Amino acid sequence: SVPPSSLAQALLANRGPAQRRALAKAITLLESTRPDHRAQADALLTELLPHTGKSFRLGISGVPGVGKSTFIEALGLFLIARGHRVAVLAVDPSSSVSGGSILGDKTRMEHLSMDERAYIRPSPASGTLGGVAEKTREAMLVCEAAGHDVVIVETVGVGQSETAVAGMTDMYCLLQLPNAGDDLQAIKKGVMELADLVVINKVDLDAAAATRAQAQITSSLRLLGYSGHSHGPHDEQVWHPQVMQLSALKNQGLDRFWAAVAQFQKLQTANGKLAARRQQQAKDWMWERIHAGLRQQFAASLAVRGVLDDRTQQVLQGRLAASTAARELLHLFSGSDPNLSNG
Ligand code: GDP
Repeated sequence: SVPPSSLAQALLANRGPAQRRALAKAITLLESTRPDHRAQADALLTELLPHTGKSFRLGISGVPGVGKSTFIEALGLFLIARGHRVAVLAVDPSSSVSGGSILGDKTRMEHLSMDERAYIRPSPASGTLGGVAEKTREAMLVCEAAGHDVVIVETVGVGQSETAVAGMTDMYCLLQLPNAGDDLQAIKKGVMELADLVVINKVDLDAAAATRAQAQITSSLRLLGYSGHSHGPHDEQVWHPQVMQLSALKNQGLDRFWAAVAQFQKLQTANGKLAARRQQQAKDWMWERIHAGLRQQFAASLAVRGVLDDRTQQVLQGRLAASTAARELLHLFSGSDPNLSNG
């Protein structure tokens, strides 16, 4: 296989088919489970890191059918026409649960995927949400090193994947249908709190409903205290979540959407929140992977496996306190090092 440094060179070099092949190769390397590949991938990431971070990272989520593919394709074409290079990545943990992918099973973004200024990568299929998210974060870094200045990360509006995507992007956008306002219960509160921008799509189908939805979602954002109007003076230096309408299918409103993104980027760069968000994300990512790694090692530990069933039974039968069992298992896991067994 290609040594990482020449792969890095090909990625950082002039644009063209060689760079595209290098990009695909690098992402395949990142997604490989072979330990030697993992070592190469880590070396590659370290080499590329100084060349990353210069893109705008945009998260897009919404329930199946809301128009994510249509919107991202239209936006991608809009952006490349204005000189941007776009990467589209996906986080779809459903593929490991149901065996079928919600995002990836149809022919998607046909026009955008044929354009060499765009790079589209389906969701990695590996195991847990944490694993899928990790691969996507790494793919994002590689795309940035290859000069993609807008990275769009897409996910479905089910489960925890939305939190994961909001946690790896600069701005998180929630797509809604025009009738969303009629049933605000359907919009999970936790997701609304994540949204920097709520986009009501398919306004061409029912303009009146879309306007109603916009008013209702705007007022619920105010109730949550996110739009700033209800609590003291409106701070012009900080981005407040907004709601807008558009039609991805009719290509209407993309310019307004991108103007809002630009405004977000300008404000949050000037007030330092964008940089702070990225730092926090990087730190959270590190700890998330440490926790995942520890869980895996714990489950694989022979010392733990020897007694785990027995202690579990004792806890179930009320003969051992859960915390006592946990302390003993952690002690067995960490072996003789007392510093590791204080849990
Ligand atoms: P996804 O599952 O969220 O990716 O949704 P798709 O992009 O596949 O869109 C689902 C359906 O909605 C498709 O038939 C699209 O053509 C349609 N659609 C998407 N955006 C719009 C829109 O703005 N207006 C209308 N009328 N239909 C749309």
